[in-house]
Amino acid sequence: MKIDILSLFPESFSYLNSSIILRAQNKGLVDIDIQNIRDFSQDKHKKCDDYPFGGGAGMLMMVQPLYDAIKKVKKRNSMLIFPSPRGKVFNHEDAKLLAKEKHLVFICGHYEGVDERLFEFFDIKQYSIGDYVLTGGELPTMVMIDSILRQVKGVLTEDSLSEESFSSNLLEYPQYTRPAVFKKKAVPKVLLSGNHQEIAKWRKEMSENITKNNRPDLLKK
Ligand code: SAM
Repeated sequence: MKIDILSLFPESFSYLNSSIILRAQNKGLVDIDIQNIRDFSQDKHKKCDDYPFGGGAGMLMMVQPLYDAIKKVKKRNSMLIFPSPRGKVFNHEDAKLLAKEKHLVFICGHYEGVDERLFEFFDIKQYSIGDYVLTGGELPTMVMIDSILRQVKGVLTEDSLSEESFSSNLLEYPQYTRPAVFKKKAVPKVLLSGNHQEIAKWRKEMSENITKNNRPDLLKK
């Protein structure tokens, strides 16, 4: 998979060079490039924002640098994504679907957002990562890339994916590691029993209880 990120703040993306995402890049499963939108500005001071027509608070990203940046990276099979509080709320199913794409282009908004004409020039899917407002599209882009790459074949083992939260509309069961007793708190006995059937039964029950308490909406899916 190829991922292009268009941003005014390329220095924000160091997270992508760590842990599982770095490993995925090193294994050749994903190739991530970041373009600085400022490099596409035709303004002599590399300005990329201006006041909104009609007045109002804040600045807007101008359409020209974004248009040229998209033109540079877009191919026939590219899926363009704009993180936005106005978008569909991004979830596990979206991550799985996007993991099948060949080329994703993330366009990071900043300030009050972008000139709306951008969405007339290009077919751009908008996703929100939740009902709150962030300063820019950089964090939402990293959140989406992280969850998408977890679903790309070869990035994680099948085992670690199959029991993760949301995989069967359930949240994950509690997990424990050594020591078996810490400050008089012992891990549930069943996990030390070696009885795989009983362990699986306990985990399923715990998953169902946690989902019922914390996210009953998932059980209706
Ligand atoms: N004026 C916009 C509004 O009220 O919807 C908010 C602009 S926000 C300060 C700047 C940028 O951050 C947005 O253009 C978007 O790219 C990104 N952003 C902010 N909150 C987001 C969220 N919940 N999900 C996805 N992207 C978000």
